[in-house]
Amino acid sequence: MLHCSAGDLNAAGTNIVLMTEKPSDSNASADSTRTAGGVEDRIEADGSPESFDSLEYEVVTPPVLVIGAGAAGARVAIELAESGVEPLVIGKREHGDAHTTWAAGGVNAALGSLDPEDDWTVHTADTLTEGHHLNDPAAVELMARAMPDRIRELADWGMPFDRTDDGDIDQRYFGAQSYRRTCFVGDRTGEAMLDTLIGRVRELEVPHRENVMITRLLSDGDRVDGAIGFDMEAGTGLLFRTNHVVLAAGGFSALYHRHSSREDENNGDAQALALEAGARLMDLEFVQFHPTGMVGDRYGEEWDGRLVTEAVRGEGGRLYNADGERFMERYSPDQMELDARDVVARAIAREVREGRGTEEGGVYLDITHRDAEYVRERLPSMVERFESLGVDITAESMTVAPTAHYTMGGVDIDFRTGETGVEGLYAVGETVAGVHGANRLGGNSLAETVAIGQRVGDHVASVVTETDVDPDVTDGQRALAEREFRALRALAASDGSVSPTRLLSDLGELLWDHAGILRDEAGLRDGLTELESLRARTTDLRVDGGLTSKSFEYAVDLSMALVVAEAMLRAAIERTESRGAHYRTDVPETESDWRMNLVLAADTEGVSISRRGVADPSPPVREALNEGYELDYHHLE
Ligand SMILES: Cc1cc2nc3c(=O)[nH]c(=O)nc-3n(C[C@H](O)[C@H](O)[C@H](O)COP(=O)(O)OP(=O)(O)OC[C@H]3O[C@@H](n4cnc5c(N)ncnc54)[C@H](O)[C@@H]3O)c2cc1C
Repeated sequence: MLHCSAGDLNAAGTNIVLMTEKPSDSNASADSTRTAGGVEDRIEADGSPESFDSLEYEVVTPPVLVIGAGAAGARVAIELAESGVEPLVIGKREHGDAHTTWAAGGVNAALGSLDPEDDWTVHTADTLTEGHHLNDPAAVELMARAMPDRIRELADWGMPFDRTDDGDIDQRYFGAQSYRRTCFVGDRTGEAMLDTLIGRVRELEVPHRENVMITRLLSDGDRVDGAIGFDMEAGTGLLFRTNHVVLAAGGFSALYHRHSSREDENNGDAQALALEAGARLMDLEFVQFHPTGMVGDRYGEEWDGRLVTEAVRGEGGRLYNADGERFMERYSPDQMELDARDVVARAIAREVREGRGTEEGGVYLDITHRDAEYVRERLPSMVERFESLGVDITAESMTVAPTAHYTMGGVDIDFRTGETGVEGLYAVGETVAGVHGANRLGGNSLAETVAIGQRVGDHVASVVTETDVDPDVTDGQRALAEREFRALRALAASDGSVSPTRLLSDLGELLWDHAGILRDEAGLRDGLTELESLRARTTDLRVDGGLTSKSFEYAVDLSMALVVAEAMLRAAIERTESRGAHYRTDVPETESDWRMNLVLAADTEGVSISRRGVADPSPPVREALNEGYELDYHHLE
């Protein structure tokens, strides 16, 4: 195994030098400061935004730094460790506590436990159809081919999948899938998967650090030499100097007012960090609105937007409007409630807009026709959650409305390697774009994390050399880090009158109103104008509690969120058609000429957008597409 060279070893086994230094003013002209108004506001000054007597920071030099300890980061780390490379894995929370734990319904793999006709070609075809053919077909194929092995491997590592009476891994229906393909652990699949992966990470003794937030990648635009951040508990700076950085820091659906993510996860850190470091982003206009988020006073504000798993519909749940009509019969008579997420979400939005919604602005989701014991067994978390709110879902309906859930867009990578085009920087998981196209098939996100994570880990392990162990830290790299630390401390000392939470909340409203399920050019342009006003308000920011406070974390989040929100609005304006999750009421048709990805790169003006054609699927997948597989909902009844 490649290890860091000798030095003071911390608990994570990495080489750490602790230093206290005067702020350096070297290399000042090329550096930058951080304001909540954006990731990068160039300053000409050679002095710091605020003067500090000393700067205390650690220098850590792992051969590979994995930013993110969700399923994607953990799977990359396992592959690296099994290949003899010892990475350092970091996350913003405690080890084993990442957004992945919220995934509920399941993970896709064409195992054919119940439907032997299923195979990787049909899995790929379903994914491309659901993605409205904007997916990278080779990436989808790679995932679908790999998944049966990845699931068996997880089972070997102890993941307690639900089983059939014959002892096979059980599989359920998920929306828009031709066969029962979704493997599950009740309705707590993500938690079980991350527990299993982290268990394996621990077995392999992979070093990790908790409560670390990366705020900038060490990059000259062409190559990445590490990352800069801070210890969220100690409030001290961290300079990670490494030749290989894997970005696995999640997506950005929490930028919306109504969303199913945790409040402090999925704020676009990964995409902002990558863009700023010189990488390209892709498909940012495609945000998945899940049809069934909790809504209404009876659940309380804290539950607003929280997901009611698709497994409820997969197990037979039905949607009714306030008139008692099973309205999906009008929108999708064959696939009904199990049609694609974009179709069901738009149908609910239309019912509500046309006055057939509930008082709370939703519709009813009902599974009471199923035997109560069956519901308790298959949907234990849902039963428990609603019970804690005084609602028995085996006997009464839930009230639901669409909620921002997943971001198909992200960093543009080569799926065979995870490479981003910036040397030394790789990306994986919800951080990236390409597998899901214009709309994600439920259960494919967890699949992507492990299938592509294994692949990326394997590639990175193959390029790490002895010289990557304990790399040197140059004066320029120190200067850049010190400048970032001073900027962060200045941000932490902001004493204006508006809180980061207020601004994040206003940003959420803005995106919900202007870049929501239904959008048009005028609304999107208004959104950009409002975004500028919001950015201006960041000059009056107030951070309470300093570097270790939640307020400060949110201020950093805000700086990244604004970058991603602007890129997203611009991409949504650029795509003058409707496709998948991007529905433009002013251009409602899908245009064949638009079978292209929008690729975004940072430039002197902000972001530039270019178009790129999508490759064609391989012959066996084309054959599966021509077969026209489709779920016939009614045979489930
Ligand atoms: C409610 C809900 C239910 C879902 N159900 C399913 C399902 O049933 N099936 C399915 O396939 N998918 C599901 N998904 C989607 C799926 O959970 C995610 O897409 C997937 O878990 C993403 O994994 P990840 O490893 O890429 O990112 P995450 O799990 O989000 O991990 C990101 C990691 O990066 C760290 N990080 C972030 N920013 C920084 C930073 N600046 N510095 C340092 N570290 C950072 C975080 O702390 C975390 O460790 C669901 C999503 C939600 C919200």
